[in-house]
Amino acid sequence: MSKFSNHNFANQKALIRVDFNVPLDKTTLEITDDTRIKAAIPTIQKVLNDGGSVILMSHLGRPKEGPEDKYSLKHIVNHLSKLLGGKTVFFANDCIGEQATLTASMLKAGEVLLLENLRFYKEEEKGDEAFAQKLSKLGDVWVNDAFGTAHRAHASTAIIAKFFPKEKRFFGLLMEAEVNAAEQVLHKAQKPFTAIIGGAKVSDKILIIENLLEKATDIIIGGGMAYTFMKARGGKIGSSLCEDDRLQTAIEILEKAKAKNVSIHLPEDSVIADKFAADANTNTSPSDAIPDGWMGLDIGPKAVGIFSEVIKKSKTVLWNGPMGVFEMQKFQTGTKAIAIAVAESTQSGAFSLVGGGDSVAAVNQFGFNDKVSYVSTGGGAMLEYFEGKILPGIAAVNE
Ligand code: AMP
Repeated sequence: MSKFSNHNFANQKALIRVDFNVPLDKTTLEITDDTRIKAAIPTIQKVLNDGGSVILMSHLGRPKEGPEDKYSLKHIVNHLSKLLGGKTVFFANDCIGEQATLTASMLKAGEVLLLENLRFYKEEEKGDEAFAQKLSKLGDVWVNDAFGTAHRAHASTAIIAKFFPKEKRFFGLLMEAEVNAAEQVLHKAQKPFTAIIGGAKVSDKILIIENLLEKATDIIIGGGMAYTFMKARGGKIGSSLCEDDRLQTAIEILEKAKAKNVSIHLPEDSVIADKFAADANTNTSPSDAIPDGWMGLDIGPKAVGIFSEVIKKSKTVLWNGPMGVFEMQKFQTGTKAIAIAVAESTQSGAFSLVGGGDSVAAVNQFGFNDKVSYVSTGGGAMLEYFEGKILPGIAAVNE
């Protein structure tokens, strides 16, 4: 049992940093995807069930100068109340100051208060200590359940920790699950361990690949970034995506992998298109012999077969980034096939983690989210975790 689960929050005010940064419809300001709110419910519910009260703080969007109606967390109140089974959610239209302090102090056991957007104060992102101290006064204990912002040393995600003794700092259940899943892959991986790295750019993924070269047995590289590797090896890639300033990096990665006995798998063939469009003409081609005027927009059938075999033999699988332009139907076959292979390996006992950005969108879109071991809610945070960085939001609770 974890520290959070073991703790009894009866008669305590838990100040919980959540990630309610959800997308809102531009005109109606209705929530269009409530995944992040849903993910925080078990943590909130546990405190309430214990007989504690909950003070929720979050950011929403990127307000520039102070309060803006479209970024107000008041738009979340009704939906949150619904997700909590109709419980009243009190709202303070400022996250610090008199109203917040008064409402927080009057909160009774079993009650919930949501504070206004933290980022209406510049001090939040600056990690201002005085601001963090004001926030800290609202609760008896601090719970960090905002994995999505764990890579930021902001006032409410990290700096606030110094105003609570260690025994009064907790990870919430979501944060615990994210950290456990990441640790399972980074430090307790059973081998063979395959990392599947895709997406658009090599430059975005260099650090994660370098860190994984120390840990994985196999690295599968797909998506747009594969063509920089293809060209670096002397292949012809037509007008496929390529970062010419990263050709040397690609060569170095291939050399390092060889020295460390890590197998790098590049797509043998590609689905190619005559333009970057949903209605493009398509064909298949070896990935290192793409005709002029054509571009690789998905991995081809041979690559699917080889990659799937590698994945199915694995005991640990990490997936970050799609294999092709999966947003367009003609170029989603590769990503879908990889999702199937990851699901199959999971069924045979592998631990699989899908984390970081678009691969999460892809498994959700294809309905594979419950067929893998864990789908991370934190894009940038999970990526930085896998780059081997120490996340301030995690360190703040542990130190
Ligand atoms: P990332 O955010 O780096 O994981 O990249 C995801 C984006 O990469 C998605 O929007 C994909 O459409 C895009 N992508 C994947 N494969 C390709 C490709 N072969 N050519 C161009 N873009 C791609």
